[in-house]
Parts: sequence; structure tokens; C-alpha cells
Amino acid sequence: MLSSRTHGYAIITDPDAPVREFDSVMCCHCQRITLIKPGQSAADCGGFCRLCFAPTCGLCADAGVCVPFEAKLERAEGRRVFLRGVELLGSGLGPGAG
Ligand SMILES: [Zn+2]
Ligand SMILES: [Zn+2]
Repeated sequence: MLSSRTHGYAIITDPDAPVREFDSVMCCHCQRITLIKPGQSAADCGGFCRLCFAPTCGLCADAGVCVPFEAKLERAEGRRVFLRGVELLGSGLGPGAG
């Protein structure tokens, strides 16, 4: 059954009831914490990536692409190495200099 997905989540505060504890899962893609409401599974509140075999948040589930957090880190690392190479080329100091 399809239902309109709302942005974010609402924390239900019942003045007549004590504060309930929510289960939470961390999105394997963006590390966002998603609260699991009672009676619902992680897939109901967010999504589940079959590639990472781990739960994701609703936003990443809607995106439908697998972008693991570690992959983002590696991409940032690669960019730094690339910039360092550009810097060496710009300095004019080749292997034979000196
Ligand atoms: Zn996410
Ligand atoms: Zn994934």
C-alpha cells in the first residue's frame, strides 16, 4: 500500500503517558538517526539497502541509490590526493630539479 511520505518525523508527546523510548537505527548511507515507532520496522520508518544490507533513512530510501558513507570518505580522500598532484605540477619542481 502506498502512502504519502512526510518530511522528517514527528515526536509524539502524550501528557498522560510517560516518555516512550524509541528504537533508532543509523542510516548506512548518511549516518542519520531514524526513530523506529512502536509496532513498526526499520523498513517502515525508513528504508533498507540490499547492497549494504543495512537500514537507511527515508531520504536515502527515496533516492534509491546506494552511496555508502565509507564511499563518500574515499571520494573525499581521492580529491585531496588529486589536489596535491596539481600542487606539485604547479610548483615547477620535477623529479630532476635540484
Ligand atoms: Zn540516509
Ligand atoms: Zn547502500
